[in-house]
Amino acid sequence: MATDLQIAARKVVSVNPATGATLREFDCTSEPEVQAAVARAHAAQGAWALLGVGKRIAILREFQRLLHQNKSEIAQLVTREAGKPYVEALLTEVLVVLDAARFLIENAYRFLRDEPVPHGNLAMKTKSGRLLREPYGVIGIISPWNYPFSLPATESLAALVAGNAVVLKPSEFTSLTALELESLLHKAGVGKEIFQVIPGNGATGAALIETTKPDSIDKLVFTGSVPTGKRIAQVAAARLLPVVLELGGKDPMLVLDDADIEIASSGAVWGAFVNAGQACLSVERCYVHRSLYQPFLEACVRKTRELRVGNGLDPETDVGPIIRQRQLLNVESQVEDARSRGARVLVGANRLPALGPNFYAPTVLADVTPAMRIMWEETFGPVLPVMPFDSDEDAVRLANDSEYGLAASVWTRDRARGEAIARRIQAGTVMVNDAVCCFGISEAPHGGAKSSGIGRSHGRLGLEEMVRTKYLDSDRLPGMEKVWWYGYGKAFTRQMEGMLDMQFARGWTRRLIGAMKAAGALKRKRHRVEREEHDNFKFRSQT
Ligand code: NAD
Repeated sequence: MATDLQIAARKVVSVNPATGATLREFDCTSEPEVQAAVARAHAAQGAWALLGVGKRIAILREFQRLLHQNKSEIAQLVTREAGKPYVEALLTEVLVVLDAARFLIENAYRFLRDEPVPHGNLAMKTKSGRLLREPYGVIGIISPWNYPFSLPATESLAALVAGNAVVLKPSEFTSLTALELESLLHKAGVGKEIFQVIPGNGATGAALIETTKPDSIDKLVFTGSVPTGKRIAQVAAARLLPVVLELGGKDPMLVLDDADIEIASSGAVWGAFVNAGQACLSVERCYVHRSLYQPFLEACVRKTRELRVGNGLDPETDVGPIIRQRQLLNVESQVEDARSRGARVLVGANRLPALGPNFYAPTVLADVTPAMRIMWEETFGPVLPVMPFDSDEDAVRLANDSEYGLAASVWTRDRARGEAIARRIQAGTVMVNDAVCCFGISEAPHGGAKSSGIGRSHGRLGLEEMVRTKYLDSDRLPGMEKVWWYGYGKAFTRQMEGMLDMQFARGWTRRLIGAMKAAGALKRKRHRVEREEHDNFKFRSQT
């Protein structure tokens, strides 16, 4: 008999984090159902690939039109399911996907078509090479809840336009948004088997990775936390399943001594509190030159006090709720750890129960140190911890002192100085004088260094992740035996030494002598024929 715990584990529930109200319950997709979904995707994918990029782009165009038409409904749904302010849902979810579709509509054909590979190897000049980009087959996508529409949608659009089928396992907290994406894609003309959503929990995700041949996924694109990413990487390694891992971050913000305090403090407050701090690219730790430390803190506190926390459906809301209690407890425990080790709370650090179950006041902490958890563990909540530094060297060292390397930002009036520092920071993206927003540039690749992940999404590099490359070599002189085939001997060895000298010896005289030695190789076929005749003669006289 199933226990309550088992029943609970077989269901995932969408809850409005602002009110605690249940939106809908879903049965988790079972292991056999996951396997069947991938099998259906495989069966249909060949025809989808044969359709051609042009027709798939036309479907993308229709998807873009439908998404624009339904922009408000989708943004509202995201707000109800994930809590972020409606305007943020409009910009960071709907707009990002409209623009990702624009990028693929404009560029997919050019990026996916065969690419000539000119080469410089003199010995192989009869060969013409091309790089082909072929779909993997079925791409499994596992996504988190914090950008429940834009993350799976941008990855899915790239996979689909390249000719893959997609099976998407959304976060257990945001199934409704994923199903809305599915409905839009189907209405636009993507086949029901070509894009499938399998609601469920971690076990459903695990089942997707463990699907068995011949109906296993061909590649996995995972976005989520570092611990889950590491677990997935181990399972994938055992099966040699290619993966893209888009994982967590602990993004540093460096405010240099020449920064504009008003601009940098506004950037810090937005970068730390956008989506209630639940963005992988959030400003998670802030380092400020000691000469600006006090006025910067004062500006941040003033601006944080002005923020309106509330239900994201209210247009006046700046900061919405945290997704769930467990996340809230983690934020509280990091703030408590910092406070107990000497950090000063300048504003916030308390729940706001009058607003709902999951609201936490935007928090600014001063005098934090690298030893505090808040400076090295991903917080994923509305907290801005700030500490001073004394020199640029110091700032770079602090920024790089992290297991994460997703993104970073440098704030300065001197762009050249900012860019020079950006080059020294170990991260997938570094922004000078802004934070977080690069995710909105569809051309910009997104991904991490160090524990923040492997591979890229977005832009040309993201599209490249969705295809297998194949090098196609075609010989222009099919009727000619190649000089390097068998028939070695003293003469051939001498000729090849000459060929190496002709190309790589220092000095023109040695190269010329090499060329003369190598020239004999061109007549090699005749010699080979002569030798064959000689060998045949010998063979005949012996028998
Ligand atoms: P999570 O790791 O808990 O879950 C992510 C997804 O993995 C969910 O769909 C979950 O059901 C699934 N999952 C859990 N266990 C699994 C398993 N064993 N096998 C397969 N799938 C499994 O992360 P989350 O709490 O949903 O998201 C927050 C995290 O995601 C943060 O760390 C954040 O930084 C990161 N994130 C990264 C990016 C990026 O682009 N780098 C973007 C958004 C969020």
